[in-house]
Amino acid sequence: MARLVIICGPSGVGKKTIYHNIIKQPKYNCVYSVSMTTRKKRKDEKEGKDYFFVTKKQFMYAINHGLMLEYATYIDNFYGTPKKFIDTEIKKGINVVLEIEINGLKQILANKFLQKTNPLTIFIQPASFADLKKRLMHRHTEKLSIIKKRIEQAKWEVKAKKLFKYVITNKEIEKAQKKLIDIFDKELLKK
Ligand code: 5GP
Repeated sequence: MARLVIICGPSGVGKKTIYHNIIKQPKYNCVYSVSMTTRKKRKDEKEGKDYFFVTKKQFMYAINHGLMLEYATYIDNFYGTPKKFIDTEIKKGINVVLEIEINGLKQILANKFLQKTNPLTIFIQPASFADLKKRLMHRHTEKLSIIKKRIEQAKWEVKAKKLFKYVITNKEIEKAQKKLIDIFDKELLKK
C-alpha cells in the first residue's frame, strides 16, 4: 500500500535542500503534495509548485467544505494539505510526500484511516539554534521580527521530535541526504 511520507522540521533547517532531489528518484515512487497557504509568495516561489497561494477567505472556504486533510496556523498564516490530491495518489499506489509542521502531523497521526497507511515520519533538526538563525538570516526571505518568531517556534518544534520514527540532524548536507536515502531505501523500496 502507498504511504504518506511526512517531513517536518523548523523553518530554515534545510528540509527542501535535503529532500528535493531524493524524492524525485523514480524508484521511490513518490509525489510531492503542494500545500495551500495564506502566506505571501516569496520572490523565488512559483504558484502551484511551491504552494497554492490563497486568501484567508479561500482557505476558510476549503476548511468549511472539508477539502483539507489537515491544516494549521503558523506565525499568523494558514497552511494546509488539500485532501483530494492525497486520496487520488494513494489510490493510484503512489507514495505522497508532505512537508508540514507539527500540528498538522498530529492531526494526521490522530486520523484512524491515515494510521492504516503507516505514515513514514521524519524530523529534520538543526545542529544548533545559532546555526538555524544564521541560515534564516542568510536566506533574506523574512524580516528580523519574523525570524525571531520562527526561532521561538523551532524551539517548540524540536521538543516534539519524539513523535517521529526518524530524526536527521542537518550538520552537513551530504550526510543528512545520505541518511534520508538510507531511510527511503529501507522503508520505501519493495522487498
Ligand atoms: P514556510 O513559510 O517557511 O514555507 O513554512 C512555514 C512552516 O509551515 C514550515 O514548518 C512548513 O513545513 C509548514 N507547512 C508547509 N505546508 C504545510 C501544510 O500543508 N500543513 C502544515 N500543517 N504545515 C505546513
